[in-house]
Amino acid sequence: MKQQLLKEDDVIREMKKALAETLRIDEDTIQADSSLINDLGAESLDFLDVVYQMEQTFGIKMARHQVLEHVEELFGEDTAVDPDSGELTPGAVALLKLRFGEESVEIPEDMDMDDVPTLVTVRSMSRAVLDILDTLPSACEACGATDWKRDDNKIACSACDAPGTFENGDDLTRAWLTKAQEEHKLF
Ligand SMILES: [Zn+2]
Repeated sequence: MKQQLLKEDDVIREMKKALAETLRIDEDTIQADSSLINDLGAESLDFLDVVYQMEQTFGIKMARHQVLEHVEELFGEDTAVDPDSGELTPGAVALLKLRFGEESVEIPEDMDMDDVPTLVTVRSMSRAVLDILDTLPSACEACGATDWKRDDNKIACSACDAPGTFENGDDLTRAWLTKAQEEHKLF
């Protein structure tokens, strides 16, 4: 269900804190629309670090694989990347536009798979966190109560204090992809 306890601003604030610490940069230099790689200089290991910090902060499991890695698993070999040119397929580019389009980032038609992580911004990563938080069940799995509270940055049951349970990021990505494919027939 769409939870109301943590908002986009809360997640962006924690994301900025984690990035400032990981990248040893001033928090004030980080904007919601900053690309982690292009604007903040993050490398692969920094991603893992920030993902881990977000998981600890909010009590969630984020995706380990980026969206296009799931595409070939779900829709078949060579659906995301053209094996001859090494470029993304038109379906993959259209998919990235769906996923990142509202970020006003430029997605070139001849984008390379390796460049996809440059699309990740503070805001898009925060949305991924929120999407997971929004899978909070209406009732606590431990006691059945239907009232949640916010304890620091974690969601917990008001009745028994059990932590909220959420779907994990990779499952959520696959569900999103299946729905996107049904609606847009990209592959
Ligand atoms: Zn409970």
